[in-house]
Amino acid sequence: MKMLEFANGDTFHSIGLGTWKSKGNDLKIAVKTALNTGFRHIDTAAVYGNEEVIGEALAEVFSEGKIFREDVFITSKLWNDAHGEGQVLPALQKSLQKLQLDYLDLYLIHWPVAFKQGIGSPSAPSDYIPLEELPITVTWKQMEKAKELGLVKHIGVSNFSVQKLKDLVSKAVIKPEMNQVELHPLLQQNDLLEYCNSENILLTAYSPLGSGDRSSQMKAEDEPNLMEIDSIKEIAKKRSATAAQVLISWNTHRGSAVIPKSTSKEHIISNFRAADVVLEEEDMETIAKLDKHYRFITGKFFDCPEKGYENVYDEKLEVS
Ligand code: NAP
Repeated sequence: MKMLEFANGDTFHSIGLGTWKSKGNDLKIAVKTALNTGFRHIDTAAVYGNEEVIGEALAEVFSEGKIFREDVFITSKLWNDAHGEGQVLPALQKSLQKLQLDYLDLYLIHWPVAFKQGIGSPSAPSDYIPLEELPITVTWKQMEKAKELGLVKHIGVSNFSVQKLKDLVSKAVIKPEMNQVELHPLLQQNDLLEYCNSENILLTAYSPLGSGDRSSQMKAEDEPNLMEIDSIKEIAKKRSATAAQVLISWNTHRGSAVIPKSTSKEHIISNFRAADVVLEEEDMETIAKLDKHYRFITGKFFDCPEKGYENVYDEKLEVS
């Protein structure tokens, strides 16, 4: 397993288990299966509503005495309704309580978007708080405090563009250590990767397999299937791997962490074994040509121009 390293020398597995959309007993079994398979990195978020189940699974595994808390790298994320001075630490404490943990390895600001307290999914402009009123830097100060208090080992962000990262880096006391974003061969984000490398910010790839189990409202009609791309399938055949393993391995070969979601035992084991798949330079060159800047997670669900939210990823808009 390739390890990634933070500036202070802390290391973690580059391949982790994603848990968005996973719940109940399926999730509990998935976490236990993952840990028993060798996974040592688990990704969750307050908004996934599954921290309690993950906490139960972790507690049961730790109580067996073969895998210890310090062996596992656990990430959670601050939801959009808990930005601001008085909100971050209580939200973090809630996540810790549900996960039955004393500390997180990584805590991320989930989106550069702020909602009023208690809003899970906004239904009106009045649910939003403009970032001019509640800047990310105010929330970030509390993330820094969480690290100083030892409640989290590392802090970072998610869904941040180069522009937003630059702004935060220029104002932060502790620089963000991670940016978790969508990354796969159709969305390679080379500018973001280059900038993050230059600032020693690690990247984690989400939706690395194309997030096929999202609800239909979140999907485009003619959505591509990453695992059915001919050249990915050809590389998989050549390297005696599956297409999913090639997609996972491609991220680790670029120096990113990657968190495929699965509740299937067969997929969990196979995704872990992606760590053994070696892609050659010619494979990386072939995959480099697939980039289309295609997003599965468009971010448009948070558009609210009245409150200053539009184009959350700060994409250069095409001029027609
Ligand atoms: P994903 O990992 O790209 O895809 C999940 C889908 O792939 C599921 O349908 C899963 O089905 C299937 N799958 C998994 N392994 C497979 C394999 N070996 N062969 C064939 N199919 C396979 O999607 P995702 O959940 O969107 O992204 C991964 C994780 O990233 C999330 O769970 C979450 O932790 C994180 N994430 C973060 C953000 C953010 O805003 N920060 C956004 C999206 C996702 P089975 O369960 O049946 O295996």
